[in-house]
Amino acid sequence: MSIAVKDNICTKYYPTTCSSRMLKDCESPFDATVVSLLSDNGAGIMGKANCDEFGMGSLNVHSVHGPVINPFGLRKGQAELRSAGGSSGGSAAAVAAGLCDAALGTDTGGSVRLPASYCGVVGLKPSYGIVSRWGVVSFADSLDCVGVLARDVSTVRRVHNPIATYDARDPTAASPKIRGRAAQMCADRLEAFKDGDYTGLRIGIPQEYFPSELQTSVVDSLKRVLDKLQARGATLVPISLPSTQYALSAYYVISSAEASSNLARYDGIEYGFRASLPPGTDMTKTANVYAETRSQGFGKEVQRRILLGAYALSADAFENYFLKAQRVRNLIKADFDRVFSLPNALRSASSQTAPPDGQGVDVIIHPSAIQTAPPLPDNTADSSSDLSSLDAYVQDVLTVPASLAGLPALSVPAGQGSDGWPIGVSIVGQWGAEEMVLRVGEAIEKCHAGPL
Ligand code: GLN
Repeated sequence: MSIAVKDNICTKYYPTTCSSRMLKDCESPFDATVVSLLSDNGAGIMGKANCDEFGMGSLNVHSVHGPVINPFGLRKGQAELRSAGGSSGGSAAAVAAGLCDAALGTDTGGSVRLPASYCGVVGLKPSYGIVSRWGVVSFADSLDCVGVLARDVSTVRRVHNPIATYDARDPTAASPKIRGRAAQMCADRLEAFKDGDYTGLRIGIPQEYFPSELQTSVVDSLKRVLDKLQARGATLVPISLPSTQYALSAYYVISSAEASSNLARYDGIEYGFRASLPPGTDMTKTANVYAETRSQGFGKEVQRRILLGAYALSADAFENYFLKAQRVRNLIKADFDRVFSLPNALRSASSQTAPPDGQGVDVIIHPSAIQTAPPLPDNTADSSSDLSSLDAYVQDVLTVPASLAGLPALSVPAGQGSDGWPIGVSIVGQWGAEEMVLRVGEAIEKCHAGPL
């Protein structure tokens, strides 16, 4: 099987640039654990995939290699330049264009699911801690996950399963005991659904996932999917996840705070790019080397996150921003635990409020994105106006809650919008219930002709 690897995952035989000038000539001396595991299982790594710089972006336009063009526009016989989504846009585009069988991406707040949706392919963000992050260049450690993109759910499963193993080198890896417990609970529940009969499957539809920005055709596609699942015996359950409204703000505070700390290492002294300073600069002042290197080495979006994150962590703002965002994160986790029938294997029974017997849901289904792939911005080099970054941030509004809660989420193609472009729907499950979301994803896949 041929696999493309997002360029923020270390590979020995290809450069690892993170799409940044800072690491443009970086060669890793080792493979990330996920890459070694795939090679050991007979996969061929066919190349590195473009991405937003250090994984920061929703449209894959913030890259030293240039933007990623969504291959769907070219396939239709016309050159319509739309975004492939970000930040794993190169991975999704490589799969959609048939350049590889599958691709690895990373998903911190939606970067596998959003490009999967825009490009009409399947994308899995696993539960946090299930797939090793060793050798993956950090953006926001408490959120980063390595995910898989492919043209169908069964290929995603074939790539995900061998990389979903415990790795002692990743300090945030879930222990074999906890992952075993979660997998067992999931398998026990799946016993109830055999041979395509989904009688008794309870699907939660969260009322907060239908913001005003949602395109009508996206809602129509979702309805068609739900009708078909209902016809196969599933029950639709309206649910509420009340803290969803705060998720996007909390995500950008937490992820930027972690990014500002992680990216402090790129200072022009130890490794990576070093700016040559203008003649006459005092070279004995390391501050000059730092400032010049970081100003030239990082793109505008990365600089914006570093500033936002450093501010959120500063003494004046810590309480009001960082701590508040962490509290919101806990509320979001509790929202999910209150609706899932399976308990969260990461927490003790006494620390979670389970739904009343028989009232919980097996999965949650919602649109993956608020719209089909947006056009590539005119000036893709580094669009820095506030409006365009805010627009880009809003693309993640439906994907960030599962990231903050560390839950598995799968985006599968669900037809086309009124503009003829792909639409995706997402299935979210309890922590460790990957097989549940994959099975429901397969059921949805069967409702449609398949990938676009
Ligand atoms: N678009 C989000 C961001 O820019 C998510 C990125 C990601 O998942 N890597 O932070």
